[in-house]
Amino acid sequence: MKNYEEMYRWAKRPEPIPDELITRTVDCDAVICGAGMSGCAAALSCVQNGLKTVVLEKWKTYSARGYHFGAANSRLLKENGVVNDIDPIVKEWLKVTASRVNEELVRKFLIRSEDGMNWLLDLAESHGIGAGLYGGQYRGPYYEEIIGTHYFDGGADAIVNMMLTDAVAGGCEVFFETPAKQLTTDEDGRVTGVIAQDKDGNYIRFRAAKGVVMSTGDISGNPEMMKDLSPAALSANSCLNEHAWLETGDGIRMGLAAGAQLGETPFPCTIHMMAWSMFTMHFLSVDRKGVRYMNEDTWTQGRTMTIIRRDPKHPWAWIVMDGDWMKQAAETMHLGGGIAWDFVFRPLNSTNYDLTAAIANNGIQDALEQGGDVAVQAETLEELADLMGVPRENFLATIARYNELAEKGHDDDFGKRPEFMAPLVKPPFTAVKCGGSLLNAIGGLEVNTDLQVITQEREPIPGLYAIGNCMSGLYAIDYPLLLPGNSHGRCITFGYLVGRIMAGVE
Ligand SMILES: Cc1cc2nc3c(=O)[nH]c(=O)nc-3n(C[C@H](O)[C@H](O)[C@H](O)COP(=O)(O)OP(=O)(O)OC[C@H]3O[C@@H](n4cnc5c(N)ncnc54)[C@H](O)[C@@H]3O)c2cc1C
Repeated sequence: MKNYEEMYRWAKRPEPIPDELITRTVDCDAVICGAGMSGCAAALSCVQNGLKTVVLEKWKTYSARGYHFGAANSRLLKENGVVNDIDPIVKEWLKVTASRVNEELVRKFLIRSEDGMNWLLDLAESHGIGAGLYGGQYRGPYYEEIIGTHYFDGGADAIVNMMLTDAVAGGCEVFFETPAKQLTTDEDGRVTGVIAQDKDGNYIRFRAAKGVVMSTGDISGNPEMMKDLSPAALSANSCLNEHAWLETGDGIRMGLAAGAQLGETPFPCTIHMMAWSMFTMHFLSVDRKGVRYMNEDTWTQGRTMTIIRRDPKHPWAWIVMDGDWMKQAAETMHLGGGIAWDFVFRPLNSTNYDLTAAIANNGIQDALEQGGDVAVQAETLEELADLMGVPRENFLATIARYNELAEKGHDDDFGKRPEFMAPLVKPPFTAVKCGGSLLNAIGGLEVNTDLQVITQEREPIPGLYAIGNCMSGLYAIDYPLLLPGNSHGRCITFGYLVGRIMAGVE
């Protein structure tokens, strides 16, 4: 049995909040801790299933970000002729996560995401929010990215806003700027509710007859937890979550104090090659010494992890292109794609690849106009090396070798497909700086397939559930981009399911 308090300083149980400090008691069925993607889905599902529901949120409003929602076999997919075969997707998921996940939970997500997404599509339709399918997945042979990504007008923000608005209209009470602080339990270990603190410092006791749902997000705002649980994420060059400071692992710490099992560590992180430049595509990548180090034909997480492993103290690279790069990008886009390669709003079946190159070029031109070191351009490779600040000798040798392999039609050094090996010969030459940007470090409380938090004896803790980034079991080793947007997708599916489970409908 692990003693988390001994293992981690941040896991030390706080002193119980004394009864005399409690200024008010609120009785309800369900308390949702955290008004993000998963918490708002749970709140609405609870309300729809007749539960008297309270949402506690640390911040002054809800949290939302991004665009993609992954799910299998939704009605929108079927209407577009897409049928997802779950079994091979599960297999691929297990491969990417090295089986350090809960296979039953993975399967449950993929199977029940049909219901979760249909629920969301119906809701969106009733609010006049349009939905579409994404077609920008990686299309090459090297790893799987399946069609199942949905997007909505107004992005994640419109969806979270819609779910919370409907929940409130159905009677849900929301307490903003009122973080959950401590779970309350009875003598049998059942979670009976939670104590929160409002912005005036008053403690409020919430008694939850059916249960408490932890949906407090990730740990990216807690440096100590990050160091212990997701150290690779600390090598990110930037953080894409502007509200990461809110995500301090509160739900995980409260759950551990109630006897929960911590999930598989280290937590995987979503860390996309999006610092400085949002587009990296398949072009030649060199490190700060001007040396090539990888087969660039890979997913965005792979790119990031490779440079982090190579040079953890300087985990950034230059993408180098010649004057024909836009043409090369457009002409080869049907062979590649994915996040930071194709663009995020490519509709399913669209092939206007020139548009991706044009969008990427806009970013580069803006960076060139602004000066600085995000993008540099020169008429000669020697000048470019100087502007990049890499040793000329190394850089020129790298280009000479790359051009030799391109002419040969076989990448003996890294095995990149010949279609992506155009020689760099035509000025102007452009280099764009890129590095890993952290989205989330995902993991936390171990749950069973009913989303109940479990103990180290694998027994459920009655009355305690976890969903979203603060739960474990779905991700390990690396975030599986094989169904882009599955992070939101599982927030919706499990949020939808947890309300039904707590209400006894499932
Ligand atoms: C820039 C960016 C873009 C992204 N784009 C996508 C995308 O397109 N598709 C995709 O699938 N994923 C995307 N993601 C990931 C996705 O946003 C997250 O996985 C998802 O939001 C997780 O939802 P959640 O409910 O677990 O946590 P969150 O949405 O982060 O919500 C957690 C909430 O809990 C609150 N909270 C914290 N502690 C407490 C407490 N003690 N009491 C009460 N409340 C508390 C926080 O303030 C926050 O509001 C993106 C992430 C980033 C950063």
